[in-house]
Amino acid sequence: MSYRVGLTGGIGSGKSTVATLFAELGVPVVDTDAISHQLTQPRGAAIPAIRAAFGDDFIDATGALDREKMRQLVFSDFAAKQRLEKILHPLIFTQARFLAESSAAPYVMLVIPLLFETQEYRHWLHHTVTVDCAEETQLARATRRNGLSEQTVLAIMAQQLSRTQRLQFADDAINNDGTLTELRLQIAQLHQRYLELATRSN
Ligand code: ADP
Repeated sequence: MSYRVGLTGGIGSGKSTVATLFAELGVPVVDTDAISHQLTQPRGAAIPAIRAAFGDDFIDATGALDREKMRQLVFSDFAAKQRLEKILHPLIFTQARFLAESSAAPYVMLVIPLLFETQEYRHWLHHTVTVDCAEETQLARATRRNGLSEQTVLAIMAQQLSRTQRLQFADDAINNDGTLTELRLQIAQLHQRYLELATRSN
């Protein structure tokens, strides 16, 4: 069975970029955001439960989750946010587990934005790594990429763990304040380390 490494970091820290660099080295990547999107597509496994809990209004004409409507609701209604997470999180975890445990690679990389905020993953993962950069860098990159306002990104950052907390919890940190070349170098080194950890754990 593959060794399981969880990759986390705040919004705009560079998780997707890092995951792509690991994938380029041949590492299978399981992305929990992508799983969440699949679950809420037309005929997605989460649609019936979302319809039952929130009503037809939150399902669009194609049968998918109306993402924008739901985003607005959960932004202002904490109970609704919890209700949605109670539906989605177990389904995401089940699918992530299935994908990771059916891999034959030495190790798999799981991208989990809220790794330390949720309970499911911590005991199941063998190792964790956080992508770390200055909050100003995070803010600049996240606003540029998503076209989100600074205010929205700051609100999302406030709901996530702080940079310091993530660094405390994670086994490793990847610094992403520098260039992509510098990032690539760190990933190459970590890749060797994870191959060794995977071999040792067998
Ligand atoms: P996350 O998945 O953590 O939200 P992304 O990997 O999508 O973050 O990165 C956010 C944005 O910043 C993307 O547009 C990405 O291309 C860019 N980016 C990430 N790392 C770097 C870097 N080292 N140098 C320049 N741009 C970067």
